[in-house]
Amino acid sequence: MNKLVIEVEKLLKNAEIIKKNSRSKIIAVLKANAYGLGLLEFANILQQNDIDFFAVADIKEAVHLKENGIKGKILLLTPTNQMEEALIIVENGVIATVGSETSALILNKAAASLNKTADFHLKIDTGFGRFGFLPREIPEVCSLIKSLSNIQITGTYSHFSFSFSKKPKSSYAQYNTFMEAIELMQQNGVEPGLRHICNSPAFLLFPEMHLDAVRVGSAFLGRVLVKNGHALEKIGYLKSQIIESKNLPKNHNIGYANTYRTNKPMRIGIVPVGYLDGFGLRKRRDSFRLSDILSYIRRDIGLLKRKDWVLVNGQRACILGRININNFVVDLTNINAHVGDEVILENINPLLVGNHIEREYI
Ligand SMILES: *Cc1c(COP(=O)(O)O)cnc(C)c1O
Repeated sequence: MNKLVIEVEKLLKNAEIIKKNSRSKIIAVLKANAYGLGLLEFANILQQNDIDFFAVADIKEAVHLKENGIKGKILLLTPTNQMEEALIIVENGVIATVGSETSALILNKAAASLNKTADFHLKIDTGFGRFGFLPREIPEVCSLIKSLSNIQITGTYSHFSFSFSKKPKSSYAQYNTFMEAIELMQQNGVEPGLRHICNSPAFLLFPEMHLDAVRVGSAFLGRVLVKNGHALEKIGYLKSQIIESKNLPKNHNIGYANTYRTNKPMRIGIVPVGYLDGFGLRKRRDSFRLSDILSYIRRDIGLLKRKDWVLVNGQRACILGRININNFVVDLTNINAHVGDEVILENINPLLVGNHIEREYI
């Protein structure tokens, strides 16, 4: 059976490096099932290591954490405009994100109906073009917030659109816009609370922008889109096995589109891992942006002539022909391997490994 293996020791090392490099509060971002590592397992490990502030993008993930023993604060990064969700947020003591007038009004109404005061972080759009108020709206936003008596601001944040760029110019511009917006809030009588703008690349590249907190996700996995001078190690590999093995004569095709032909008699093995399991994307493409990932898949399925390898019984075995949906073929000609022997796939991004595959923490 295939398993995604997560080495806890490496994870802890990465967490130590992150802690050492921050004097600010660390908000561990655990969206998308903790980047594929498994939400609860990952949160528990971080909790045991003194991380007490988490962020997720999905209300279900927030509730799941709350209901399963995670005691730290939980910031929901996605604002809601729906009463039903606002009620769940307030009932569970999740910190909401307010990024529009409607989201403020609905949160206030939900909190009032439950006779509570709901904490929220204000989101400012400093150039991403997604959630958040535009800086020029700040004066009205401040009046609005002050008029709503069942919600209370405990933080203010923004998000970089291109902190992984080689050119820091746009990040500096966003940072300056953010600082100006905060000043404007204060002039309008609203204290920003916890100020945060850095994601992982910005956390690594711009220590001067750490402010009161940093929102770090991919750095825990050692998979950041910028040079990693901090010795963060990549987390996660896939463990599988040889499920079939046989000999092929010289000049025999292997796989779809006839891209590979044996140039001698060969022994091959079949490994039951394919695109469906997140395998087959190019090595250096470690982006976590879903749009990128989808376009990689589209391109890679057609194009690959792979010279990639996996480890079979600890030895490198070349991948032959194309990777399929459910499996691929490896060269076992010079490897002593049999059906049932272990195959390790190091070049895999946990985010792409579907939830049908068991996570194993070692
Ligand atoms: C995903 C996300 C983060 C974390 O980004 P990483 O680069 O993985 O650290 C931080 N803030 C917001 C709003 C996000 O959506």
